[in-house]
Amino acid sequence: MTDTPSYGFDTLQIHAGARPDPATGARQVPIYQTTAYVFRDAEHAAALFNLQEVGYIYSRLTNPTVSALAERIATLEGGVGGVCCSSGHSAQIMALFPLMQPGDNIVVSTRLYGGTVTQFSQTIKRFGWSARFVDFDDLDAIRAAADDNTRAIFMESIANPGGYVGDIPAVAAVANDLQVPLIVDNTSATPWLCRPIEQGAHIVVHSTTKYLSGNGTSVGGAIVDSGNFDWTAAGKHRSMIEPEPAYHGLKFHETFGPMAYTFHGIAVGLRDLGMAMAPMNAFQTMLGIETLSLRMQRHVENAIRIAEWLEQDPRVEKVTYAGLPSSPYADRVKRLYPRGAGALFTFAVKGGYEACVKLVDAVEIFSHVANLGDTRSLIIHSASTTHRQLTTEQQVAAGAAPNMVRLSIGIEDADDLIRDLDQALDRATA
Ligand SMILES: *Cc1c(COP(=O)(O)O)cnc(C)c1O
Repeated sequence: MTDTPSYGFDTLQIHAGARPDPATGARQVPIYQTTAYVFRDAEHAAALFNLQEVGYIYSRLTNPTVSALAERIATLEGGVGGVCCSSGHSAQIMALFPLMQPGDNIVVSTRLYGGTVTQFSQTIKRFGWSARFVDFDDLDAIRAAADDNTRAIFMESIANPGGYVGDIPAVAAVANDLQVPLIVDNTSATPWLCRPIEQGAHIVVHSTTKYLSGNGTSVGGAIVDSGNFDWTAAGKHRSMIEPEPAYHGLKFHETFGPMAYTFHGIAVGLRDLGMAMAPMNAFQTMLGIETLSLRMQRHVENAIRIAEWLEQDPRVEKVTYAGLPSSPYADRVKRLYPRGAGALFTFAVKGGYEACVKLVDAVEIFSHVANLGDTRSLIIHSASTTHRQLTTEQQVAAGAAPNMVRLSIGIEDADDLIRDLDQALDRATA
């Protein structure tokens, strides 16, 4: 089908990017488990290598199953192009790679996935890049942190693990003033709860590992470009505007216009960094996306019920779910996340660190795992696991204080989940 934007989300989540297989008529997208593709002739091969013709060369660059997924995610996000890669973390490096040179920096929210805090505060330094962490509710702090070497602004829509919801339009306005793209990690919200590009973001990244794949089977990542950042006018991102020596001096923005960032992601990013997604993972992720809206509705419904139940429980100190009327972000949720604030939140247990550790051992339906966005309900004590590399100050800033437990609410019966938490809280706080 042609991906007309007038189709609704539920139609696009099943059909976008997928056509009956031209060779066999197979209705579901086949798993093209192949490394290479036969060229029609030498001229065809040369045109592909010169980027004069789009086609399949080698599966590190593109693969039909992976391309179908990239097109589906880009369509659901309202972008012009997408690139899939091996994990959410590779998506973040791949997203920054076309924008950064040694000495450049990014301004990022303090409220980020723990692994992203480590990647940005430690690992990217090895590339000569740096990240400046600020509170994104303070727009002046974002402006103050930026300088002539700032190349992007990075935030999460619904921020893991604290249940914080970002004000994308406000941050996008700052990004536009600074003439740098706003990159939004939309993993926890998914395009069903939030479409960052409609709210002014320029680039969206995903860990497809989570709600998109949905069943906890496949690690993956994706980058979607809105096509609406003017690289030439900004004049700051050399890979997008200057001659690329590896392609006979081709200038990406001049040559590919709104597709420049996407093509760079494939032709330079995947080619040279090699963080390709496996076709089997793309297939699994596409199956997951077919039911995304249905799952997200149930995730949100269950999350609201459980957060409300926890909030009134005397064994619980506080609940940070932005979907609660008592949340300081309740108005922002109504305005920017009208379908709900996701299914990921933390709560503080009376009894602190000790009680939290007992709680994760006492649950029966909830699984104690370092993951989120599964059909199954998940629990983790971030301070002793995913966020243990961080200082206590960083843990608190990231919403992962030592007395906080994070829940990723699944799509089981809410009553069963409440009963499970009830018995586990009894054992943890006895
Ligand atoms: C999981 C996650 C990542 C990292 O993704 P991987 O697929 O595990 O590499 C990045 N950002 C957010 C918000 C995540 O939840």
